[in-house]
Amino acid sequence: MNCLVRKMLFCLTLVALAATAFAAGKVDAELLSKESKHSFHWFPIQKTFILVSPGDTVKFAIGNPYAAVNSNTVELASPPALENGHLWLDSADAVKLFKVAEPVAQSSSAAQSSSSTQPAAESSAAAAVPATAPAEPAAAAATVPAATVPAAPKNETAGTREVKTIVIDPGHGGKDTGAQGKKSNEKDIVLAIGKLLKKELEKEGFNVKMTRDKDEFIELGQRANLANQWDGDLFISLHCNAIDATPERKKQIKGYHVYVLRAPESEEDKAIARRENKVATLYGEKNAKEELSPIEWFKLEARLEKYKQNSYMFTEEMLKAFDGGKIRRQAGGVGGAGFMVLVGALMPAVLFEIGFISNPEDEAYMMTDAGQKDIAKRISKAVSTYKAAVHSYRETLGR
Ligand SMILES: [Zn+2]
Repeated sequence: MNCLVRKMLFCLTLVALAATAFAAGKVDAELLSKESKHSFHWFPIQKTFILVSPGDTVKFAIGNPYAAVNSNTVELASPPALENGHLWLDSADAVKLFKVAEPVAQSSSAAQSSSSTQPAAESSAAAAVPATAPAEPAAAAATVPAATVPAAPKNETAGTREVKTIVIDPGHGGKDTGAQGKKSNEKDIVLAIGKLLKKELEKEGFNVKMTRDKDEFIELGQRANLANQWDGDLFISLHCNAIDATPERKKQIKGYHVYVLRAPESEEDKAIARRENKVATLYGEKNAKEELSPIEWFKLEARLEKYKQNSYMFTEEMLKAFDGGKIRRQAGGVGGAGFMVLVGALMPAVLFEIGFISNPEDEAYMMTDAGQKDIAKRISKAVSTYKAAVHSYRETLGR
């Protein structure tokens, strides 16, 4: 978009702001961000949104009655909602958190009729912020005037630091063949694609490490350890999905799936994690388990919170990069479960099930040179766009 058009749009937006930002008791969060000079970021998969200014980061989750204001947890008058394609905050919360003028009362019909530009995700959502029960709601937030909070750099977590080192983890290897197709083994496909991906990423200037670059067995825990030693900024574990079923069913079930580490929401996702974790128990790895217990999830939460947003950001870039490819999304394309290989990684991390090795079409594509190259290129593109997104976020933080 050129500059003039941008300016015109901005002016139009300001005009529209007066009309639609405040609707009976509710405020359109995106328009509010413009008025309060915050940048606005919406994460549809995670159903969270953040407003960022140089001294101020305020994070909301749809349906969650708390917001994270910098490092404090603040109780909201009412939880944010996604309705009619807009993200709504209670106007009392807008006044309290962003020091905007008391809203002029308007009928909500003005806002309702405005066209929907936001992604129309469903509004029911798992609460994501905060992960643990807030200790002291209220006090913190009352005063967050953007202009007076110094722009002191916060802790450099993986979420806001530069994206330089990518760790590729081709799953399985050696005595662990992974899932078996009619003509191929998972361990060979993911290694071939991993090597191509390394080349692609190096062309883009990334520092690339591989947990294995030959046919060897490496324990799940060791993979994350290596990634941590290398101080990775992003961990990508490559796998092929599989089902044990009739030939008919195997023909039907195909597609790719991006997984992050989070409590599973479906039996299918749980089963996939169990299958990928099985190697650890099979070969007697220390601390091996096929599933995480609720108490283990609880212990993990604080650490996960640090990297979750970026893992989801990368997931979104993966979906964009794979749209239009030969292998399509399987059941939405995104899931979460307790993958042991991701548990120890102190960085944003995903486990990518490239396709179903049990499906003849997916298997054939994943076996060809052209297919492997295409897959590697798409992952590399996702890494590049993810890096750009993280870096533009850094700029809004003044880094
Ligand atoms: Zn696997």
